[in-house]
Amino acid sequence: MTLGGYANNIAWVDLSAGETEYKPVPEDLALKYIGGRGLGVKFVFDNGPEVDPLSPDNILCFMNGPLTGSEANMSGRMAVVTKSPLTGTVTDSHHGGWSAARLRWAGFDGLVFKGKAEKPVYAFINDGKVELLDASEVWGMGVHDTVKYFQDKYGEKDLTVIAIGPAGEKLVKFACWINEDDRASGRGGTGCVGGSKNLKAVVVKSKKKITKAENRDEWKKAHTRGLKAIMAEENITSPKKGGLSVYGTNVLMNITSSIGALPTKNSMLTSYGDDAELISGEWVKENILVNDPTCHACPVACKKEVEITEGPWKGLHMESVEYEPSWSVGANLGNNDAATVAKMIDVANDYGFDAIEIGHPIGIWMEASEKGYTKDEGTLEWGDIFGMVKAAEMVGNREGFGDIMAEGANATAEYFGHPELAMTVKGQGIPAYDPRGLQGMGIGYATSNRGACHLRAYTPAAELGVMPFNSLKVDPLEWENKGELVKVFQDVHAFSDSMDLCKFSAFAMGADEYAEQYSAMVGVPFTADDVLKVGERIYNLERHYNNLAGLGEDSDQLPKRFTEEASTMPGSLDRVCELDKMLHEYYEVRGWDHGVVPEAKLQELEII
Ligand code: SF4
Repeated sequence: MTLGGYANNIAWVDLSAGETEYKPVPEDLALKYIGGRGLGVKFVFDNGPEVDPLSPDNILCFMNGPLTGSEANMSGRMAVVTKSPLTGTVTDSHHGGWSAARLRWAGFDGLVFKGKAEKPVYAFINDGKVELLDASEVWGMGVHDTVKYFQDKYGEKDLTVIAIGPAGEKLVKFACWINEDDRASGRGGTGCVGGSKNLKAVVVKSKKKITKAENRDEWKKAHTRGLKAIMAEENITSPKKGGLSVYGTNVLMNITSSIGALPTKNSMLTSYGDDAELISGEWVKENILVNDPTCHACPVACKKEVEITEGPWKGLHMESVEYEPSWSVGANLGNNDAATVAKMIDVANDYGFDAIEIGHPIGIWMEASEKGYTKDEGTLEWGDIFGMVKAAEMVGNREGFGDIMAEGANATAEYFGHPELAMTVKGQGIPAYDPRGLQGMGIGYATSNRGACHLRAYTPAAELGVMPFNSLKVDPLEWENKGELVKVFQDVHAFSDSMDLCKFSAFAMGADEYAEQYSAMVGVPFTADDVLKVGERIYNLERHYNNLAGLGEDSDQLPKRFTEEASTMPGSLDRVCELDKMLHEYYEVRGWDHGVVPEAKLQELEII
């Protein structure tokens, strides 16, 4: 391979046979799909869209990008890519920390697991080799104990542990991989796929060995320009000054609530009123914050570590009180107790399931209780802090009614005989933005290739005015041109996810900076137009996969609550989400026929 940045080595691990093949990265695929999300999606595509997600035939990819392990800012992300058991789509979910860099330093661009181990195993990655070892001692353990077990065994230094918990082992449909105790590849049920393969953990031991750029002089310039943008005081990334750095992502709680865009009580309301303050980043900083951890090569340090010193969860010390999970188990459940928010997120991390998704089945149970739809499982009231923790544990153990909730929001709502209670797209629960108050999020959720998602096209960047250097601000209640905006965001983010840069890099940098960094690292000329082109190719490949798996326009829809029940709260009063108009505009700019990628588009993008 002539390209810089890459380790030029992917481990293809056959869990059924217990064998590993080491293969170089095909250069043509690296140029077309980059790495991370893009290359992982290509591998999943080539494995066939008809595959049963929980069969040994599905593949599970842990991928990094060409900038991984270098000094590139915010480059500590790893993509976990597979076919989702929750949505039936191709899915990718990314975690931060040090695992991506360590995987590169161990000599890999990715690990691809296929088959099913006869007994529980873990993969030990060290010095260019993958060993499959007996995991029977840790099978059944929570993520925290699993991490501790491997730290005791191999020493904490230079070690990273990515693990599933009991939820993955018991095939909870939204189980996930947790890296280093608290960093989740949360969405899409990638941990459920791990459990189906009897794969408990990926343990990487490697010393720091910074990846060097192909063109060092150009790299120095590109890196400096990116760093300057991150440090600039007008950007929210600015260390210890910008909102993201000071309060973490949870700086959004008060903002979205104030504009009528915070889904509350299973989205019956669009604002949490004064209670939003009690679970906000500002409240957390003032009352329970003890540290601001970061990821590899990131000066922003948006992670927030908290300690609970009183009340029923006294003694809890954890990380990742992020905006989206804080919303899911906070405003969404009528819970204004920040300590219980932290407890619920910690339960999710220890059992190893998606802390965004868990609020959906529980919220449905609460709404069903209010409306008198419940049966033998009994009722659960809004804001019942002990009841919600118990419910989350029941999901992780698949115990009692937890066995139904573990199948996801749609199954839970159907159990009550009221499918309209599920706030999902393609079977995945919405995150923390109400599309009646942020119209762009509506079209973003509906057309996301992995089910409802805020990260495919993060329109609040423009709708709330936090684009780099305030370069773009649009009206959150306006629907016109949102289809086009979403397409551009989806394409740029598909590229940055394939480099695997943190999504928050987009609060400081854009396609120009991404192109410069890629070009200098890999050693090929590249422009902002190329960024958009490659991103568009990846987005269309995902859509083509979903089309072949049977998903079309019918799946690009929102729950009727957002399109038919008008907001009753200030900021978005009387608004519904104007999805149909935006969808029409979106398909036009994409060149899709009712949600399906035509053959001519596939050819134009060199997908076929
Ligand atoms: S901005 Fe936050 S999540 Fe992103 S790399 Fe930095 S610390 Fe990690």
